[in-house]
Amino acid sequence: EHYKHPQDIEFAIENGEIFIVQTRAITTLKEKPGKDEIDGKIIVRGLAASPGIGSGPVRIIRSMDDLDKIKQGDVMVTQMTNPDMVVAMQKASAIITDEGGITAHAAIVSREMGIPAVVGTETATSLLEDGQEVTVDGTNGKVYMGLAQSKKVEVLPIVETKIKIKVLVDLPEFAERAAKSNAFGVGLVRIEGIIASNGKHPVYYKNNNKLDEYQSMLKKGLEKIAQNFIGKEIWVRTSDIRSDEYSNLEGAPKEIERNPMLGFHGIRFSLKNPEIFKAELRAIKELAEKNHKFGIMFPQIISVEELKQAKVILQELGMIGNKNIKIGVMIETPAAVVIIKELCEEGMDFISFGTNDLTQYTLAIDRGNDAVQYIYNELDRAVTKQIARVIRECKAHKIETSICGQAGSNKEMVTFLVKQGIDSISVNADAAKEISELVKSIEESRQEAIKAD
Ligand code: PEP
Ligand code: MG
Repeated sequence: EHYKHPQDIEFAIENGEIFIVQTRAITTLKEKPGKDEIDGKIIVRGLAASPGIGSGPVRIIRSMDDLDKIKQGDVMVTQMTNPDMVVAMQKASAIITDEGGITAHAAIVSREMGIPAVVGTETATSLLEDGQEVTVDGTNGKVYMGLAQSKKVEVLPIVETKIKIKVLVDLPEFAERAAKSNAFGVGLVRIEGIIASNGKHPVYYKNNNKLDEYQSMLKKGLEKIAQNFIGKEIWVRTSDIRSDEYSNLEGAPKEIERNPMLGFHGIRFSLKNPEIFKAELRAIKELAEKNHKFGIMFPQIISVEELKQAKVILQELGMIGNKNIKIGVMIETPAAVVIIKELCEEGMDFISFGTNDLTQYTLAIDRGNDAVQYIYNELDRAVTKQIARVIRECKAHKIETSICGQAGSNKEMVTFLVKQGIDSISVNADAAKEISELVKSIEESRQEAIKAD
């Protein structure tokens, strides 16, 4: 009270008496040794979206024109990030948003870039002020007043496991960082990362007769990823561009969908826009011919017909039977789960669980709406029962199973998946080592149990 700041007090005890030797005001925050939590005044809370601690002056971004304000080391505060912000996000020491859940774009991109992030705070843009110094604890979803030491989460090499541990890579510039994990391969490339960095919507290339440019832009981005994972499989998802996230890209369709999560994106868009779809597939084909290994995944599958039609196009492009190309589907709608047997019978090499969407569509919870995140749970029995069923069916058909949703970095989910006998798990690069150690320990304890029998 006297000094108006908490005090750092040195004292001595002599002959049973306490002497205060020195006292200093604490004006910067320090982390409590040995603990993840920071000691200080919490000013905003939200969802822990990307681990690590970052601090700096707040820069509030209210429109795209404000993006120039972001300087190296600033804390970017915005209502909701969108793909156009990726370049500015890279300069930020931390990111805070009002809206979105942990599978929202801001969260996914921050994790990949290794930038601490807290999302879905509801109030950050109104409570924080431009220039105010704050510390963002992305591990625990808290924002503190004042500056504390930044702590980035390192990418460390995985330990050897029977189940393959793979990483998620959406941005070619961060492939090298992800490759430090020594992961078995890339379990998901969202090509939207490459598309957005180039600023134009696929429809722009189509309408301007520039699909060659679209194809070479994708090829260049994918090649950069492939060069960091030589000899390893890279599973690339064909485009899945939701209108709410990508409306700022040049040439994006102008009509606003009433419900983008249930809208015109993923395989349904690709099959209605075969020229765009083919440009994406050709980019992969050209790299497969250079001996890079790929899996091609179709997103938002709801029918066997969609898989059939996609395969007809692959056949037309001479991509079926290519030793460097596997074909698979994302299992991310309850429809795909219900018809899994027919999908297996139609023929494919692998499936990958998109648990971000599978949870959203199963529980009828908009993953982008922070008001309902408190009931969003990938471990809900309604979700895990579907996963178990799909793995069982795929095993019967000798089809490889994997997961590329965010839940693959969740320990409880990983424990469940290992027990179900999944073949591979894709994780955020900075979680790779920890998840591999968990998988190894489960594998070892099961081995012990078998021996004891
Ligand atoms: C998913 O739905 O789990 C997924 C991996 O895809 P996205 O997050 O891009 O929808
Ligand atoms: Mg999805």
